[in-house]
Amino acid sequence: MRARSWIEVSRSAIAANYDAVKRLVGPAVEVAPVVKADAYRHGALAVSRIVESRGARWLCVSNVDEGIALREAGSGARILVMADSLEASFCPMFEYRLTPVLHDLGEIAALDALGEPVDYHLKIDSGMGRLGTIAPAAEIAAAVQRARHARLEGLMTHFASAADYVGSQTADQCARFDWICAALESLGVRPPMRHLSSTIAVAYGRREAWHAMVRPGHAIYGYVSPVRTKGMSPVSLLDVRPALSWKTRLLVVKDFPAGARIGYGAQFTTPAPMRIGLLAAGYADGIPHRLSNRGRVIAGGQFAPILGAVSMDVTTIDLTNAPLLRPGDPVTLVGREDAASQDAQDLARAAGTISYSLLCGISARVERVYVD
Ligand SMILES: *Cc1c(COP(=O)(O)O)cnc(C)c1O
Repeated sequence: MRARSWIEVSRSAIAANYDAVKRLVGPAVEVAPVVKADAYRHGALAVSRIVESRGARWLCVSNVDEGIALREAGSGARILVMADSLEASFCPMFEYRLTPVLHDLGEIAALDALGEPVDYHLKIDSGMGRLGTIAPAAEIAAAVQRARHARLEGLMTHFASAADYVGSQTADQCARFDWICAALESLGVRPPMRHLSSTIAVAYGRREAWHAMVRPGHAIYGYVSPVRTKGMSPVSLLDVRPALSWKTRLLVVKDFPAGARIGYGAQFTTPAPMRIGLLAAGYADGIPHRLSNRGRVIAGGQFAPILGAVSMDVTTIDLTNAPLLRPGDPVTLVGREDAASQDAQDLARAAGTISYSLLCGISARVERVYVD
């Protein structure tokens, strides 16, 4: 393989992570893996095939195009489209048997106007202040009951601060959601499904928020964000491991004398004679520019600091601890070499960002290969 930069996605890790979620929530709770954004760059088609082969009957995507791609690839799962309730999306939604999440009561009438039998889920903004309706129960019930063709199948919500175990936002959101559901029930609106939980509410065992279905994304890829509050921390009940590793090659190895200025803006000057490696990947591949002079990679089984500015196609590292490496040798950005390992959370933390953003930011020019 001659790729300059590539990711390796472990099929068995994806399968084991899905199984771990399934085991934790038990047979009564549907697990709907979230494969939006090309499965956080792990590959939506491959990931969907793996989880469907292990019994997943639902998948979650962000928009209609992502849903269509899965259908065209032969997915037979129910596909919940979580953030695409534009009217123009309703026709393809029906044509490809996708299930829309609606966020506004006006959308119910618009969907109903298709004149076709179609199930939808309605999102309640229970306090996140983002997608979902904030209408009172009576108005929701009226809009739901006015529809002749569109059928409410599920009520859902999403947590803003699930990893915060000091503040009460999550408990408040649960209470608000339950209250709306109860009010709707008393008005005759009783959809078969309720769902609230993504990875964090699953991993830390917020069982009262599991109901009929959970929507894990991060966990499927092997991650659970740490609880944000020190001290009293619930432990993750999920045994998952990162499915993706990210590698690139040394392009050039160069010995500089002391006092050499390295890269754009001369952000690093060699304090002594130094062997420096130029990696064949930069911010155009998804290495955050914020890693300039921060963070590290793994070279020759040792951590090697990033030096100077990350540029578009090249990143410079300190090869002092790996003097034997030559151009063409692989270096690890995310993954393990011998005793040294770092995951997407470690690299994201060094960059001042989050693992989700780091994973989704691995660009299209980084080749993807699947391994067992
Ligand atoms: C992205 C998303 C999820 C998955 O979140 P993770 O933290 O990756 O598990 C679940 N539900 C909704 C509505 C989402 O947008």
